[in-house]
Amino acid sequence: MSAASDHNETESPKLDFIREIINKDIESGKHNGRVQTRFPPEPNGYLHIGHAKSICLNFGIAQQFNGKCNLRFDDTNPTKEDTEYVDSIQNDVRWLGFEWDALHFTSDYFEQLYDWACDLIKKDLAYVDSQSFEDIRAQRGTATEPGTESPHRNRSADENLTLFKKMRDGEFKDGEHVLRAKIDMASKHLILRDPLLYRIRHAEHHRTGDKWCIYPMYDYAHGQSDSIEEVTHSICTLEFDTHRPLYDWFIEKLEIYPSKQYEFARLNLTHTIMSKRKLLELVEEKMVEGWDDPRMPTISGLRRRGYTPESIRKFCEEIGITRFNGMTDMVVLENALRADLNKRAERRMAVLDPIKVVITNYPEGQVEQLDAVNNPEDESAGRRKIPFGRELYIERDDFMEDPPKKFFRLGPGREVRLRWAYFLKCEDFVKDENGEIVQLNCTYDPATKGGNSPDGRKVKGTIHWVHAESAVDAEVRLYDHLLKIENVADVPDGTDWKDSINEESLTVLKGCKLEPSLSETGNDFPVQFERKGYFIVDQKDSTAEALVFNRAVSLRDSWAKKAR
Ligand code: ATP
Ligand code: MG
Repeated sequence: MSAASDHNETESPKLDFIREIINKDIESGKHNGRVQTRFPPEPNGYLHIGHAKSICLNFGIAQQFNGKCNLRFDDTNPTKEDTEYVDSIQNDVRWLGFEWDALHFTSDYFEQLYDWACDLIKKDLAYVDSQSFEDIRAQRGTATEPGTESPHRNRSADENLTLFKKMRDGEFKDGEHVLRAKIDMASKHLILRDPLLYRIRHAEHHRTGDKWCIYPMYDYAHGQSDSIEEVTHSICTLEFDTHRPLYDWFIEKLEIYPSKQYEFARLNLTHTIMSKRKLLELVEEKMVEGWDDPRMPTISGLRRRGYTPESIRKFCEEIGITRFNGMTDMVVLENALRADLNKRAERRMAVLDPIKVVITNYPEGQVEQLDAVNNPEDESAGRRKIPFGRELYIERDDFMEDPPKKFFRLGPGREVRLRWAYFLKCEDFVKDENGEIVQLNCTYDPATKGGNSPDGRKVKGTIHWVHAESAVDAEVRLYDHLLKIENVADVPDGTDWKDSINEESLTVLKGCKLEPSLSETGNDFPVQFERKGYFIVDQKDSTAEALVFNRAVSLRDSWAKKAR
């Protein structure tokens, strides 16, 4: 089974405010009409669905405007970064369907960044401060009160250069000195009150090893890396809009390529979390199986869960790009997947909670192959044969011993349609010593093959089933929200956000019975189990002997019903 390859991507993306700016910039000949973006993750965790929004925006703009988009690892924080993350991020960007023009690491620019810091010192625009972080923070002032100047603020350029060189050469301990920009301790922009440029950190870096013991701060490294790559539109999330004056200040003072920063609202999704740091806590404390646990909002978790790149791209397009922070309902993401899989996933039959059916008037030992349509939404998906015989499994809850009138499935004396097969009538049932029903004795009507009765007899219910003898056993995992609450920001101060983790987010069903065409472990595209949702083979835990399926999403939004 495979995805239809001619899947149509949507029309051209909506014209959001960033694309409007780019259109104007191209028209006015700014940056010589060139468009260059970048996606700049810090390799301190796996990418999540929030990053997908940024990826679709940055790479999408490059595609649309005939521009370029780089992948740049913002690896300025040696203690939290790791090559495992570097590899997973590249894998995830590609899986989403994008390819970068150039791959860069901020750490490749450390020498250039150091030289520019020296230039700032020479221009009397940076100085070495020898106070503690705490003192520096305490002198910052507030929105209404100016900050206090450091006693080291007026060191000579020569003294600063010497000290900065010694910082680099490892002559000081962590925290003994920092390099600060010399701007204005009374600026109305707090970010301009002599921000830190470098700190000492004797730590092994995943790429530069022990070459450096001073590391640039985000603000200093980020904008300058944009300039080095001649990024035209540097797109980041809204919380950085207060940093923009500093972004522009560096460019002006260093007289380097005039990249411009634009901010958009980050993605927040209900019932989950959008922070690598918090996701890492779940991984480290083993509250989930790993970064790719199907409950995680990571790209790797969503992939394992059965999400398709197409559905994630469509979702990102639907939510759009704005400057208003808000919450997107998880249902929007799920619906994007449903819409995609409804068109592309083949239908199969699987019984998750089986009860045995014996068709007493069906010849013993006989098996016939019935004709079934693979996907009613897509003729090109073709048809398949499914075995039918005397013993079947159906869902336990498709039978009631004493059903109410409106129950259109099986009960004693009642008749239903077996999908792609025959009408089936329940004659009686067998209970075990505990009073549990273990078998239904039924009869079928051979004249109803294909699901219609020649005498015009109507049945209301159609149920799925699996032929007992040829059924494949599988474990099926059902997932629910990672968080019991909608918004992790609602967790009161002083309480651990992890108390909001939904302990019932995973249900494991054993002994499920699948139609034989599902026996292959290699299928990496989801299928629809009729009436049950969309499922995918768990590529990590499945073996030829023991199949495991994950439910990507149910057919309908069951949460909406519960909430009402
Ligand atoms: P986290 O707090 O999860 O680590 P981050 O912003 O620190 O997120 P980065 O690796 O620095 O993560 O992010 C890379 C890019 O992805 C940045 O441009 C950032 O703005 C963007 N990004 C991160 N989270 C989101 C989100 N929730 N919605 C949209 N864009 C995001
Ligand atoms: Mg970060």
